[in-house]
Formats: sequence, C-alpha cells, structure tokens
Amino acid sequence: MSARIIDGKQLAHEIKSQVRSEAEAYLIRNGRRMGLAVILVGDDFASNIYVRNKINACNEVNIRSFSFRLPASTSESELIELIHRLNNDESVDGILVQLPLPPHMRQNVVLSHISVYKDADGFLAENAGNLMLGNPSLNACTPCGIIELIRSTGRPIDGANAVVIGRSNIVGKPIALMLLENHATVTMCHSHTTDYADFTRRADILVVAAGVKGLVTGDMVKEGAVVIDVGMNRDGKNICGDCDFDSVSKVAGYITPVPGGVGPMTIAMLLKNIVKAALRLE
Ligand code: NAD
Repeated sequence: MSARIIDGKQLAHEIKSQVRSEAEAYLIRNGRRMGLAVILVGDDFASNIYVRNKINACNEVNIRSFSFRLPASTSESELIELIHRLNNDESVDGILVQLPLPPHMRQNVVLSHISVYKDADGFLAENAGNLMLGNPSLNACTPCGIIELIRSTGRPIDGANAVVIGRSNIVGKPIALMLLENHATVTMCHSHTTDYADFTRRADILVVAAGVKGLVTGDMVKEGAVVIDVGMNRDGKNICGDCDFDSVSKVAGYITPVPGGVGPMTIAMLLKNIVKAALRLE
C-alpha cells in the first residue's frame, strides 16, 4: 500500500480563499479591515522569517497587519504597555507575540496581558481552559490545522483510536483535547512512555509532534492509518518531520508531507482566528 499525500498547501489555499471572502465582506460592512498586530522582540533569525510569513499571509487575504519590531533590550513592562495599548485599539482584532521572547522576559506573564478576545495564537490560559471545557474560544493554530487535515481525508474521527505523540501546550495537549471533543478515543504518548509502538500500532489516527527526526517508522504504524507528521527537524539543508516518510508511507493510508503538510495550515488557521476574533466584535 502507498499512502495518499494530504496536501496541506492546497487545503491552506482553500481556507485562505474563504478567509479573503470573509475579510472583504467585513470591510464592506464595517468600513475597516480586520487587523492583526504582530510583535517581535529581538532579532532571532527564525522568528523574523515566521513573522514575515504571517504578515505576507495577512496581505494575501486583505487583513491589515501592524508590525512592531522591538529591540532585544525592551523591558518586560514596555512590552506589556504596548500590549495594553493594542488591547484597547479598535483597529486591532488579534495580537500575536512571536515566541521565544528574550530570556529576561517571563513569557507567561507577558502573554497573560493579551486580551482573551484578541489572543490570535490561542495560547492564553483562559482559551486553553475553554478548549478543555468545550466552550467557544480562540484555539492554538497548529492543532486546529491538524483537525482540518484529518477531516480532509474523509476518515471519521468519531470512534477512531487516536494516538498523539508529544504533550506540549501548543500542539500535543490541545490536539488531544480536540480529538476527544470530536469523539475519538485518545491516547497520549510522550518521552516517559515505555514502548509507545504498542499504542501507535493500534492508531487509526496518529499525530506525531515530538520534534525527533525518524521517531516513527513504518513497523510502528497500523495499515491504512491517517498519519499527521507535525515535526520540523533540520536535515542538512532540508527540513524533515518526525516520521520516516519512506517506510511510513508504505503502510499508512494517508500522510502529511514535511514540508507542505501541517506548516501551511498553521498560518491558515491563524487567519481564521483573526476572522473569529473580529466577528465576535462586529
Ligand atoms: P516540544 O518540544 O514542546 O514538545 C515535544 C513533546 O514531544 C514533549 O511533550 C515530549 O515529551 C515529546 N517527546 C520528545 N521526545 C520524545 C520521544 N523520543 N518519544 C516520545 N515523545 C517524545 O515541541 P512542540 O512545540 O510540541 O513541537 C513538536 C514538533 O512540532 C517540533 O518539531 C516543532 O518544530 C514542530 N511544530 C511544527 C509546527 C508547524 O506549524 N509545522 C508548529 C508547532 C510545532
């Protein structure tokens, strides 16, 4: 068997088209564009690229972006002051603080100052809590994208055995909750799990988000499973996922490529979060 590739770029393109229509209709109704404020502190090379990609994505769909590039020497209180200003700015629907922050800043403290209604990344404790309670909320973008990727296969989540490898606050935990909310039976594996192949071999849906190149090989995957590879690891000049693509794709029914799977969907779902945030205020 050879897995079908889940084309994250194509799906992201379709979602961006929907977002563009909603953003344009919003502009006509309200006389202003939806807006995202992006704050970057310091000069981290990768963060610069991520911020540029997010701003470009906003431009593509007619969402206004406000870019704040602050020196690494910015104090925590100066950053918090800016966040408060943006919380009160009606032209800003979403606020995103690019992580990581410089070491002298307390990430949790800084993020906690973002308005829960403008939390574009869905990282706030209140939004994470709402996800757990099944309440409407702005949710983390990568797991939202993963759910869309799984849905695009047409395979049911309801009743599926789903296994998640990784338990981070931004991927592993929220995707496990979202799968649960969609009625899957969910098992979480992590660095302290002994013999996780025992679990992965029974997974109809396998989400791998460990950040370890080659962690999952074909012999650990159930025939026909949907495999979502979230990992982004350096492989020389290239980027690869956590799955050994060659062996896993011989066994799985569907698989996301790296790059071109989860990554593009993360940005598309960020745009969807801005729409969600803006429409709440309409
Ligand atoms: P993290 O480092 O915060 O968490 C990794 C998790 O994997 C931890 O819970 C750890 O327990 C688990 N883990 C680590 N080694 C393991 C092992 N050998 N066996 C089983 N479990 C193990 O990482 P994260 O932020 O969740 O990201 C995970 C990966 O996904 C990274 O490669 C990251 O770059 C990638 N990522 C991609 C996107 C995207 O948009 N494409 C977004 C977020 C994260």
